[in-house]
Amino acid sequence: MKITKYESFLVPPRWLFLKIETDEGIAGWGEPVIEGKAATVKTAVDELMEYLIGKNPMNIEDHWNVMYRSGFYRGGPILMSAIAGIDQALWDIKGKYFNTPVYQLLGGKVRNSIKVYSWIGGDRPAEVGAAAKEMFDKGFTAVKMNATEELQYVDSYKKIDAAVKRIAAVRESVGADIGIGVDFHGRVHKPMAKILAKELEPFHPMFIEEPVLPENNEALREIANHVSIPIATGERMFSRWDFKKLLVQGYVDIIQPDVSHAGGITECKKIISMAEAFDVAAAPHCPLGPIALAACLQVDATCHNAFIQEQSLGIHYNKGTDLLDYLMENDVFKYENGYVKIPEAPGLGIEINENHVRKMAEIGHNWRNPLWRHTDGSVAEW
Ligand SMILES: [Mg+2]
Repeated sequence: MKITKYESFLVPPRWLFLKIETDEGIAGWGEPVIEGKAATVKTAVDELMEYLIGKNPMNIEDHWNVMYRSGFYRGGPILMSAIAGIDQALWDIKGKYFNTPVYQLLGGKVRNSIKVYSWIGGDRPAEVGAAAKEMFDKGFTAVKMNATEELQYVDSYKKIDAAVKRIAAVRESVGADIGIGVDFHGRVHKPMAKILAKELEPFHPMFIEEPVLPENNEALREIANHVSIPIATGERMFSRWDFKKLLVQGYVDIIQPDVSHAGGITECKKIISMAEAFDVAAAPHCPLGPIALAACLQVDATCHNAFIQEQSLGIHYNKGTDLLDYLMENDVFKYENGYVKIPEAPGLGIEINENHVRKMAEIGHNWRNPLWRHTDGSVAEW
């Protein structure tokens, strides 16, 4: 089998889909995207695909190594997202060739379903209590919310109190049984992060996420020594080598590699298995589209330490277009009692509605994350 051609599709709300075709009529889909730099990743995909045209799509491990190692400069969000989407499409082809879901080719599944969580409250969390109740009534057993708006390095306790009030409202509205992930979103710097974490502790968060920016991961020690809340991070880390330092430092409890950012199925399976040897859990990041989620579920199926999966249905970013719109059968991600079943169809387990993809690619998108500034005019972390 040979790779004959590929096409990429920039589609709303903020995604990039990739279709790789072969001379045997089997096509695979991937989602190579970094939010806000989709066109840059598209160009990186074009550069990487130059090598892959004419090659046998079955040699995924070798292709991965060529894409990663042959360019001298490596790693980072753009290159690793481009590799990720190509890798997903190659696995999709391989699964379809053997008429089996990808998880079978990765060793078989250790679970039939995985818990999912739903986002509440958007970028600037306000009425989160009611939103949490709505998700609870829909059957979700876990939610995630942003902790706070922008915070200065040292900021007022009024903002801390407001954050605590919102999380208290969520806990009050859904009871003790629901998991509440609280995303600091890298918005909080070390001086305030330990205060905020300490104040949230009585409300028993399921985890706090990116309590500091990943480039400040050594500060996790301070936070881990202040609170017993599980610490999650990793959506802005892109390879085994990025995660190695974090795991050796020993202050992370949950890693969140993104299967569309961190080198795809091939690399994320390895990252998560590496974390297993540190007794660290995995909750793959996925505020993205249906191909990214399908790829996550194939990895989750085979990783013992994966315990929950992010998914984007109804997320605040999905304005006008949502997770299921590009699928032929939109019950493939049917959530039941807070869990989603591992898809059993060949490849990634989904069928893309190509006509709809083509139609929406004519609209495209130019999604950028917002630019926030502090009161003094300096740039704030979003
Ligand atoms: Mg996050």
